[in-house]
Amino acid sequence: MILPGKLSTKQIRSKNTSARLRLRVTAAAESILRSGHPWLFSDSVQDQNRPGVMGELAVVYDRKDRFLAMGLFDPDSPIRVRLLHVGKPETIDQAWWLKRLDRALKRRRGLFDEQTTGFRWINGESDGWPGLILDRYDTTLVLKLYTAAWLPRLEEIVGIIKERLGPERIVLRLSRNIQKSAGRHFAKTDGEVLSGSPPAGPLIFLESGLRFEADVMRGQKTGFFLDQRENRRTVQTLTPGRNVLNAFSFSGGFSLYAARGGARSVTDLDISPHALSGAKRNFALNQSNSAVAGCKHLLVKADAFEWLSQKPKSAFDLVILDPPSLAKRESERVGAIHGYRKLATLGLEHLARSGVLVACSCSAHVTADEFFEAVRKAAAKSGRKFEEIQTTRHAPDHPATFKEAEYLKAIFLRF
Ligand code: SAH
Repeated sequence: MILPGKLSTKQIRSKNTSARLRLRVTAAAESILRSGHPWLFSDSVQDQNRPGVMGELAVVYDRKDRFLAMGLFDPDSPIRVRLLHVGKPETIDQAWWLKRLDRALKRRRGLFDEQTTGFRWINGESDGWPGLILDRYDTTLVLKLYTAAWLPRLEEIVGIIKERLGPERIVLRLSRNIQKSAGRHFAKTDGEVLSGSPPAGPLIFLESGLRFEADVMRGQKTGFFLDQRENRRTVQTLTPGRNVLNAFSFSGGFSLYAARGGARSVTDLDISPHALSGAKRNFALNQSNSAVAGCKHLLVKADAFEWLSQKPKSAFDLVILDPPSLAKRESERVGAIHGYRKLATLGLEHLARSGVLVACSCSAHVTADEFFEAVRKAAAKSGRKFEEIQTTRHAPDHPATFKEAEYLKAIFLRF
């Protein structure tokens, strides 16, 4: 028996020619994996036949030594194996990967017309591609990896993506925690163009007919928050004649929909000047739309918590709150729930009579119910009468099939 442990660079680089990597796991892990959870944590591995190498296929056995699952091995992550499939053994070859890709593509069939050329083709584990995201921005695809376990088979994966989707280019993005190892062991860098030529200028794509810029080489996520599309569409229906505050606006995604919906003014509030200049350019890109052209666009660079804490100088008819995750880890969950309640309270102080509050959370550690309750409590505490318009979860191109994948939720309240 060889206990799992850290591998030397030499071991990671060495070509694996020995026996298949076999892992036996705890009884608790066995039932979790059987129930469909895609992660095997390192502390659930009871023994393994040899040290594994980054990205090799690991076979997980149950207590009776029967095949349980197969997945990608990652010696650097506490998520030691990301499952590809559970049940009976399967041969994972090119045809298998193609079939898996086709499943994700089929899921999105009919979701978008030619007015939406930016969306998610593959959403990680929930599409059977653990730790891998594939986003489309017009003719560019962005492949984002959250585990280095994909890197040894990157060429094969890029090959099948090209075969099925024929993009002009594919850009590689790497989550921060794997950038060092990707550079050192696989000579791959964040923002590298894997196929095709680098874009000549900013990438423009369409979302519901609106033009947006995406900074695919350096921007947050893969360059744009594609996950908010459906909530933005709802915002558009709520904005005729209204003065809108978009707090944590980033590049003005919600703002453009509000403007097109007939808002009188839209104020973008963000701490990042880079985000605000993106919002300015996105407004400029849509001036052919008369409602956007007629909407007053204001930019405020400030810490939203501080700015909202100041005495309101003017009231807004629609307040959107979409902060970055307030809980990056489980230990921050309770603090984050308080944070969301506080933020909603502050937002309400800036909301005019008959106004609408749109509050969002992207913290996976805070459940939808905890978040909705926090916002409802803030609303009740304001002493104002309100009705709930709706609550929303994930967009259809961002499916979430297990708890840790569920991060996005939004609540719309009318006062
Ligand atoms: N609503 C946006 C996405 C928001 S992402 C969209 O639909 O595209 C979160 C944004 O919050 C980022 O642009 C980040 O710069 C900004 N941000 C982070 N901390 C902030 C703070 N304390 N005050 C204001 N903005 C902040």
